Amino acid sequence: MQYQAFLIKYGEIGVKGKNRHVFEDTLVSRIRSALDAVEGTFAVRKENGRIYVEAEGDHDDEDTLDALSRVFGIVGICPVVLTRDEGFDALAAVVLDYIKTEFAQHADRGFTFKVVTRRARKNYPMDSMEISAALGERILDVYPNCAVDVHAPQVTLHVEIRNQINLYSRTVKGPGGMPVGTAGRAMLLLSGGIDSPVAGYMTAKRGVKLDAVYFHAPPYTSERAKQKVIDLAAIVARYAGPIRLHIVNFTQIQLAIYDKCPHDQLTIIMRRYMMKLAEHFAQEDEDLGLVTGESIGQVASQTMQSMAVTNEVCSMPVYRPLIAFDKQEIIDISEKIGTYETSILPFEDCCTIFVAKHPVTKPNLKSIRKSESHLEAVIGPLFEEAVATAETIRVSAKEE
Ligand code: ATP
Ligand code: MG
Repeated sequence: MQYQAFLIKYGEIGVKGKNRHVFEDTLVSRIRSALDAVEGTFAVRKENGRIYVEAEGDHDDEDTLDALSRVFGIVGICPVVLTRDEGFDALAAVVLDYIKTEFAQHADRGFTFKVVTRRARKNYPMDSMEISAALGERILDVYPNCAVDVHAPQVTLHVEIRNQINLYSRTVKGPGGMPVGTAGRAMLLLSGGIDSPVAGYMTAKRGVKLDAVYFHAPPYTSERAKQKVIDLAAIVARYAGPIRLHIVNFTQIQLAIYDKCPHDQLTIIMRRYMMKLAEHFAQEDEDLGLVTGESIGQVASQTMQSMAVTNEVCSMPVYRPLIAFDKQEIIDISEKIGTYETSILPFEDCCTIFVAKHPVTKPNLKSIRKSESHLEAVIGPLFEEAVATAETIRVSAKEE
């Protein structure tokens, strides 16, 4: 069945008053961008507190639903059949045809249903109750195993009498959340692992626009490891929209740390410099916070003590959406959003190359600062060079 329109349902909690039109306008513009990638022409419009997507001509329903189901802020999508008003008998025929196509497998066995009619156009010769009752009867005539249940029906058939008549019953689940762009922007520390793409997805879901930074260490990390991160950004961008990705060469800083600091502190010191650099780019991009994929206790650098020491270098808030998640829970999300297969590709990460056998799990800030003082003579210029040589690219959504 080809649907001619899609009715967009969105959550309304917290979007009252002035915020409401910002929410709706942003949602409309995110829907338009998402549909740019779908073949066909679509008109998106706001009407009476609703958003309609109307297809102008040919399109693929599944592709359209797929694109819409990745737009944050959408709670549900109802595929709509439009029909012209050519009298009640014609309407009843379209309704029966609709039920046959939509519920063919269930119709013979029977299901419970109710018809809900709304008249936006009051000059229709029957009122809403009459239309619902009469359509109910026609359905029962053809499908005697079905039954009307007004309290908890399996199928609710919506009939809306407007200039045209809208029919819909099915709701495809949307991702929920808030439209990207309604909640400021943040800098995601994006590695090639499983966690950080999920952290980015979850942050974008709350309406935050993402920038990202990736630290690589050529020649210790390969071109393919870098490409993997770009690919992950492109998958996250399917939900979050285009991502500005800074690719920072971290090799010299890492070598200096390796050279001058105790090896059991390498990871923690390295992470402090990563955060500092990330904050530098975040300030340039006017971000309001940093986002990482850390979760308590996952590795030595993610104990509460380690994160306190890492955090200490930042003046911006650091958001850790996965902080209380188990690994399996994170994996489940990464599978759902489509990053998992890419994340598990076995390319080296700059953190793993210089890693100590027995890293400290309860670092002491004083002692870390003392170790870092050995870098004083070199770190300034190395930091500046890492900033100056960073490559910035815009990563757009990659379709499956
Ligand atoms: P992930 O699966 O996201 O790589 P991880 O379990 O490997 O996480 P760590 O390597 O300790 O954990 O990294 C913790 C967080 O630090 C990551 O989630 C990410 O936000 C950031 N991070 C780590 N390595 C890099 C990198 N090379 N570039 C950018 N950010 C990084
Ligand atoms: Mg990692």
